[in-house]
Amino acid sequence: MADKIPRQKMPQQDPAKRIHNFNEVPLGYDENTAVLEASRCLQCRRPTCVEGCPVNINIPGFIKALKEGNPLEAFAVIKQTNSLPAVCGRVCPQEDQCEKLCVLAKKGEPVAIGNLERYVADFEREKEHYAFQKVKAEKGKKVAIIGSGPAGLTAAGDLARMGYSVTVFEALHKAGGVLVYGIPEFRLPKDIVQYEVDALKAMGVTIELSRVIGTAETVNDLLSSGFDAVFVATGAGLPLFLDIPGENLQGVYSANEYLTRSNLMKAYRFPEYDTPIVKGDRVAVVGGGNVAMDSARTALRLGSKEVYIIYRRSKKEMPARIEEVERAEEEGIIFKLLTNPVRFIGDEKGRIKAVECIQMELGEPDASGRRSPIPVKGSEFIIDIDVAIIAIGNGPNPLIPKTTPGLDTTKRGNIVADPQTMKTSKRGVFAGGDIVTGAATVIQAMGAGKKAAKAIDEYLSTGVW
Ligand SMILES: Cc1cc2nc3c(=O)[nH]c(=O)nc-3n(C[C@H](O)[C@H](O)[C@H](O)COP(=O)(O)OP(=O)(O)OC[C@H]3O[C@@H](n4cnc5c(N)ncnc54)[C@H](O)[C@@H]3O)c2cc1C
Ligand code: SF4
Repeated sequence: MADKIPRQKMPQQDPAKRIHNFNEVPLGYDENTAVLEASRCLQCRRPTCVEGCPVNINIPGFIKALKEGNPLEAFAVIKQTNSLPAVCGRVCPQEDQCEKLCVLAKKGEPVAIGNLERYVADFEREKEHYAFQKVKAEKGKKVAIIGSGPAGLTAAGDLARMGYSVTVFEALHKAGGVLVYGIPEFRLPKDIVQYEVDALKAMGVTIELSRVIGTAETVNDLLSSGFDAVFVATGAGLPLFLDIPGENLQGVYSANEYLTRSNLMKAYRFPEYDTPIVKGDRVAVVGGGNVAMDSARTALRLGSKEVYIIYRRSKKEMPARIEEVERAEEEGIIFKLLTNPVRFIGDEKGRIKAVECIQMELGEPDASGRRSPIPVKGSEFIIDIDVAIIAIGNGPNPLIPKTTPGLDTTKRGNIVADPQTMKTSKRGVFAGGDIVTGAATVIQAMGAGKKAAKAIDEYLSTGVW
């Protein structure tokens, strides 16, 4: 019986070794393990797993092909709806999506859908290069995409396949958005993202790097220079701060800056790369999401001796993926739960030397449904540190809304877009991903990119807004 075979574990680098390198932590399945895991799938007639996938991958379909020894066919099935399978196989919160709804989850352990997706995508990348196919831009219409994160890249792939001429404008010097500047190498190797970008280029998509839209060039300039539609996918890259004393001391980073310096600007290979980063002996990371885990684990790999996660709720409320929390624990990150910083303390040279925290207890659930933290009077205490990293979330960058007349935004500055068509208040302009929803997930951004591509095609085919 398929459900008697236990879920196959993925081997991973030993914690004692991996804290000294930036190589990927999970090592992937071999062929036998992948086929064995695939054989656990019951091929349900009503595959509930698919309902949990924001881009509706034909999950039993790809698993069947894999089980029958045809990983390339499995890849083709996934690619019908997902243009970044190697990325999703690594970073999607499968435990809350497809795997949560797998029927086997009710009785025991769900099929390891994410691990199988990763295996199939890696097989194709390492052996076949099936994805590198040119498509003709036969529609005679041009679409501009602003931002090369998962939303922008997905829309670019779908639109190119439909026959549009697509140009992606990216402010940074590398394409990929958070996938390259935020998520560290040990969770998502950068050559995998580059492979997906190269596949898009091979299809005919033009990628213009170091092109910030909203300064010298605006959305209106793009529309008047021959682009028939614009998709704004600029993400949520504006760091939020705690707004407590001492936050501008030297040695206090936003997670964005810290991770960008390390990942994109290769600070971890200083002096080979000329990007310095303060490597403290004792580092405090404030926050409990994936960004906080990534920052803490990066600090450890950069040589810090003690790394704290300071989080104001309990572990149960942490928004980070469970497996990333577990990996951080295995690596020796120290969790200071139900704890909140109240001020950073500096030395005479203006460098951070400590953080004062207060103990918290949990009250009633707040608007997000999580139990709200309440400070415990008189429970203040001090932790000596020499670096602090603030990872409490990101807001939308205001550049495009400010320089695009007629583009409606919410109070928080997110662009307002129809959830089905991604149409904004401005004719010809669509928006999706984190810039619309606020910080969310890779697959949700990809889902928005897919919807936008479909709606852009309809608009450009019919002229109806
Ligand atoms: C450290 C970190 C870890 C994460 N871990 C996970 C995870 O494990 N799983 C998961 O599902 N999600 C994770 N997320 C969230 C996920 O990465 C985002 O939800 C997703 O990347 C959003 O995609 P996007 O395309 O909307 O925007 P982004 O990926 O933010 O891409 C936007 C791009 O637009 C560019 N841009 C911005 N303004 C302009 C402009 N004016 N002109 C030109 N270009 C511009 C930016 O430079 C950027 O490259 C993580 C996020 C972070 C920061
Ligand atoms: S629900 Fe689980 S067992 Fe059923 S098809 Fe999906 S992955 Fe296979």
